Amino acid sequence: MKVLKFGGTSVGSAERMKDVAKLISGERNIIVLSAMSGTTNSLVEISEYLYKKNPDGANEIINRLAQKYYGHIDEFYSTDEYKQKAKELIKSHFDYIRTFTKDLFTLFEEKVVLAQGELMSTGMMNLYLNEQGIKSVLIPALEYMRTDKNAEPDPVYIKERLHKLLSSHEDADLFITQGYICRNAYGEIDNLQRGGSDYSASLIGAAVNAEEIQIWTDIDGMHNNDPRFVNGTSPVRHLHFEEAAELAYFGAKILHPTCILPAKLNNIPVRLLNTMQPDAPGTLISNTTEKGRIKAVAAKDNITSIKIKSGRMLLATGFLRKVFEIFENYQTPIDMITTSEVGVSVTIDNRKHLEEIVDDLKKYGTVTVDEEMVIVCVVGDLEWDNVGFEACIVYALKDIPVRMISYGGSNYNVSLLIKSADKKRALQALSDHLFNNK
Ligand code: ADP
Ligand code: ASP
Ligand code: MG
Repeated sequence: MKVLKFGGTSVGSAERMKDVAKLISGERNIIVLSAMSGTTNSLVEISEYLYKKNPDGANEIINRLAQKYYGHIDEFYSTDEYKQKAKELIKSHFDYIRTFTKDLFTLFEEKVVLAQGELMSTGMMNLYLNEQGIKSVLIPALEYMRTDKNAEPDPVYIKERLHKLLSSHEDADLFITQGYICRNAYGEIDNLQRGGSDYSASLIGAAVNAEEIQIWTDIDGMHNNDPRFVNGTSPVRHLHFEEAAELAYFGAKILHPTCILPAKLNNIPVRLLNTMQPDAPGTLISNTTEKGRIKAVAAKDNITSIKIKSGRMLLATGFLRKVFEIFENYQTPIDMITTSEVGVSVTIDNRKHLEEIVDDLKKYGTVTVDEEMVIVCVVGDLEWDNVGFEACIVYALKDIPVRMISYGGSNYNVSLLIKSADKKRALQALSDHLFNNK
């Protein structure tokens, strides 16, 4: 059994949904769908109006979104019977969303509103397949996808519940389920964070020990640099799990940062494929690696760097522990670290407790903060006995001010910290030098 996940653009219109229906018919797989593109953003906007106690603002967006869906229905189904069924389905979701315009609106209600996008796209696809005579079955994510008290997925619960649900539909041709949405440890509706449908797919893949997890999107696999900022990028055909995880964590939007881990732990290959070009080879992510090559570059935005400089660090023990404890006390993860004899620089992407952290750090040294920074992460076979690779990377950035360089933490990456303003130039320079022989 395979798990196939289709992102927002892949199910973004009636026509796209019909293409997806063709791709998924004929094999008894689990199909994970995102909300139609733009829907989750609209649901976020609706929530913002409701937080601000502006029901008129919310209703305007709700009505506009509902009209869009009724338009899709007319194009999607061919019989009046299914058009009617789909209209009733969509109406029930929008009626439900409207109930939240009349009462108190909190984080709890927001999560319920955000869940409606995936519930609608999967319901619509299931009806379409049924209209085509395919015995597809809707498996509700809210009945098996669950997080624990630390907001981490609970793999034992997911596996047990999912197996029960699947085995109660032995005559099903295929299964449709929602990405992104789940219940939390208290049974409330929750989600796996924006872009989290990829994570749903890999958790499901791990739960059913899938033969393969396929992430279908709007591009032919993982490119060697961010195509939104760089010209002349090209697909990488093969990545190791570790390489893909680094790229996803450090900003390659094609994959949700957490989605590689469940696949890696269960050794399930992940294939990135293009819905618009289904025959293109895409990218295969597995536990084998191609040696001797730099594969790709990614960038993570909104980084803050903090430098703590102190004469007391010289020959002292316990200095780094004290510094790291401060970040731990404020539950703020550190991404990059560089050290010298008299100081340490770290980066964080969560600025929530920045002020308190800086205040506490002042006990131990002089603190300097640089904001609006970007981590550029270069990924590939970067084992230390591979001569010359780090030199190439640094040379490519010879005209760009670099605040930190981190190498040697893994065999797969070199990370560099630069100003946000230099991001595009740095990414292009790396592509030109590392991949395009310029
Ligand atoms: P989906 O809605 O299918 O989940 P996403 O928008 O989340 O799709 O991810 C696909 C997009 O990721 C691409 O359209 C592309 O613009 C962007 N992207 C960023 N970095 C990369 C990369 N290195 N390779 C491929 N796509 C990338
Ligand atoms: N629909 C959700 C989002 O837009 C989840 C996803 O698409 O992965 O963030
Ligand atoms: Mg995505």
